[in-house]
Amino acid sequence: MQNAPLNHKGRFGPFGGQYVPETLISALNLLEEAFDEAMADEDFKNQLHSELTHYSGRPTPLTFAENTTNHFGGAQIYLKREDLNHTGTHKINNAIGQILLAKRMGKTNVVAETGTGQHGVAVAAACARYGLKCKIFIGEKDIERHPFNVLRMKLLAAEIIPVNSGRQTLKDAMNEAFRYWSGKIVDTFYCISTALGAHPIPSIVREFQTVIGVETKQQHFLAEWRMPTKIIACVGGGSNALGIFYPFLDEPVSLIGVEAGGYGIETGKHAASITTGSIGVLHGAMTYLNQDCTGQITPTYSFSSEFDYPAVGPEHAYLAQSGRVTYQTITDQEALQALSFIAKQEGILPAIESAHALAQAFKEASKMALDETIVVCLSGRGDNDIRLNWFRRE
Ligand SMILES: *Cc1c(COP(=O)(O)O)cnc(C)c1O
Repeated sequence: MQNAPLNHKGRFGPFGGQYVPETLISALNLLEEAFDEAMADEDFKNQLHSELTHYSGRPTPLTFAENTTNHFGGAQIYLKREDLNHTGTHKINNAIGQILLAKRMGKTNVVAETGTGQHGVAVAAACARYGLKCKIFIGEKDIERHPFNVLRMKLLAAEIIPVNSGRQTLKDAMNEAFRYWSGKIVDTFYCISTALGAHPIPSIVREFQTVIGVETKQQHFLAEWRMPTKIIACVGGGSNALGIFYPFLDEPVSLIGVEAGGYGIETGKHAASITTGSIGVLHGAMTYLNQDCTGQITPTYSFSSEFDYPAVGPEHAYLAQSGRVTYQTITDQEALQALSFIAKQEGILPAIESAHALAQAFKEASKMALDETIVVCLSGRGDNDIRLNWFRRE
């Protein structure tokens, strides 16, 4: 592909790489080999496709948001409905792929980290279905924020490991899961939630999420007989965005990633690692992250636990640096307004993360022509995770 990022030994331009202790390199090499073999094996690909179809419910629809389109009076707005997946987000695409891979590698145990619990629920479900034992690391603060998802994971037979180090959020859960896995690499598979970490993990996650973009391309073509004008997706670690962007990288389509602006960039309380970060290393990869001048991670803020993380996947760092993808920020309040708006207009309750992408689409739609289109990646559903205190803030 002409515009495809350089993927030489896990590098995306200067980003990515394998910044891990030497003892883990052989495990990463084995993972890479197993993944390459699996993706060249028709039986594995058929099994993956069959599970995505009959277990998760793919393909997910591309819904025309007619009332919203009429309200803004500009571009035609379509929603790629990852909220309609089994367990309620795009996370299941990656979980099914990685847990099938774990099983193929002969692993018996799986560890994963989670923020809101969306990834934890997806991994727990896949482990139950494919017969692997599952431990989910989650920050104490996130356990408090998402009791319902913790219950879902327990019902799906996962063991919950509360993490009380650091700020007790996603980064800390990832540290602990990674530390635990480092000592158990022989029988344990680490199923990361997003396109972060050391090579080959970001590429594996992107590959399993690319189904979103492949379907979108076909569905948009059937609806409009052309390419979308813009595609907008929210970016935490960056997996739903990479999944929908990837098949369009070489097409004349404008791609926009939306980061969590929290209380506003000017307040310093946000989680916008591309917009405000600098180049550094976290969790095995060189990427953009929020750090102080000594390289220590600075605190992030977003009212979404999934966005409350100080870095972004290395492929996004490359796509930002090369200018192929543009990145914007949306504040908590703008995301909440977009959530309420789409609920009233279309009868859909999106996840608060997805509402960041919607808010950006609403800013752009009215400036565009009637014969242009925007596809928004609706990464997940919100009806099991709406929190009262969001609406109590001034
Ligand atoms: C986890 C999550 C995200 C953020 O993760 P990405 O890897 O950036 O996609 C976004 N939306 C929902 C609904 C999520 O659960």
